[in-house]
Amino acid sequence: MPEFWRYPFLPAASKILEGVTLDALLNDYFYAEARALALSRLETSASLGIIDVEGPPTNDESDIVLGYVISRLVLAAADNQALVNYVALSEARRAELYLSSETDENLANLVNLFDAIEVKLNGSVFDMNFVDYVRAASKLREGDWKLSNRGVSKGIVSLDRITLIRLMREVIQQHLEELPEAPRAIKKQFEGTIDELKSQISKTFVERIGGLNNVVSERQAEAMKELGKFDLSKAPPCFNTNLLDLQAGVNLPHPSRFFITTFLSSLNQKSESVMQLFATAPDFKESFTRYQVEHITGTTSSTKYSAPKCDTLVSTGVCPGPNGLCRQIRHPLSYYRVMAESEKDVKVRLERILLAALNREKYPAELLERNMKIFEDFDFTYGEEIVKRKLSEAFRLDEISKVQVKISYFQGRVYSVEVPNEERKIWITKAALGITDGNSDYDCLPLTDWKLALPIGDAQYKSKSMDLVVKPFEINMDDNEVRKFFMILGITEES
Ligand code: SF4
Repeated sequence: MPEFWRYPFLPAASKILEGVTLDALLNDYFYAEARALALSRLETSASLGIIDVEGPPTNDESDIVLGYVISRLVLAAADNQALVNYVALSEARRAELYLSSETDENLANLVNLFDAIEVKLNGSVFDMNFVDYVRAASKLREGDWKLSNRGVSKGIVSLDRITLIRLMREVIQQHLEELPEAPRAIKKQFEGTIDELKSQISKTFVERIGGLNNVVSERQAEAMKELGKFDLSKAPPCFNTNLLDLQAGVNLPHPSRFFITTFLSSLNQKSESVMQLFATAPDFKESFTRYQVEHITGTTSSTKYSAPKCDTLVSTGVCPGPNGLCRQIRHPLSYYRVMAESEKDVKVRLERILLAALNREKYPAELLERNMKIFEDFDFTYGEEIVKRKLSEAFRLDEISKVQVKISYFQGRVYSVEVPNEERKIWITKAALGITDGNSDYDCLPLTDWKLALPIGDAQYKSKSMDLVVKPFEINMDDNEVRKFFMILGITEES
């Protein structure tokens, strides 16, 4: 008979629930200890990544198991995946500790009781079907964990006890990360649907759930605070997606961690700040992470590794898929640099927009100077009170207007021009575009600010209308041609 207080997630442990009603579990004084143990499980998991619940005689076995059940129900009601993941890892680590103290026979029994993989004790090793192994080790993709490095004989993989226990941590963690799967098993014991259960739990634990959510947010905010000048709004989708996963308590695979570390290090973030970010990961081990981060960033090695290119990030599964700007660049750092366009000096931004519009192979110094005079005293800001006009009227007036439009065309491109007497080129990532009210089409000055270009490109792709802030300008295209364009200054809302 297993000691359920050590392994309360075993299917057989739910026998303790027989005859217990949810109402009693949540309100009866008799279960006050179980409720306290449930909250302790959750609070120490969220803040410290551990579960420190002593077994009998300090705590009664049934209180511990019922406390575990209540904790699963509270988690389902809290609906916070980061919290779920933190708790799953804490539970799995606790179980790993206890499994390490079991005899080989007991270990094999417990693994089989968990009912996710089946093992057979064979002398001093544990045999299992390779299909079970691949499923259980799906997130442990590196080094020795690869099936090819394990040695499969007649469909069987043999593991030593240390490896099996580590694998069980993975299996338990993955199982507990799935909600409401776990409460569904528990739910069999109670009346009502999962949603009814969740709402009852939410009412009882409303303040404690709020507190738990705050602990998780504080843990995540603490990590971001260290990143100082780093601007998330300029980061490419690959960075944002992996960061979100990290903050949601997902254990990132090595290529993702390597990318986050090298990307931030290239943007002059200190190793210590990167470390703080990884501290939100549920399997955070300070000494190991410090070694990896300091090695990659060159603090303790002779090599400072560079952030990988997009090709590499695509092939290693780090890239979640490109957006409109990604298609113009080959490296995530270029993405960050392009997104910094709006931070440039007004004159520099104007010059780059005009260069993109004039589209010459050689730097058109004289033409550029003539056009720059049109923009004397111009800046890219505008007030809150802007008149909404029809597009045709906005085109006639020398004023800033708000217009509702669709994007008639949108084309991203990288353009370069050589600067005379200087051994350098100016590189501009631009979006050529036009807008329409359904009756007439109007050309716009190219967008070099991709914080605007990205949502506009997206609206064109989805054929959606948008409210834009625009102003018309007449531009000298050469000595004999003057053309009128709208300049897009902002987006007020996407309609
Ligand atoms: S294409 Fe490159 S920059 Fe864009 S998300 Fe993928 S890896 Fe990141």
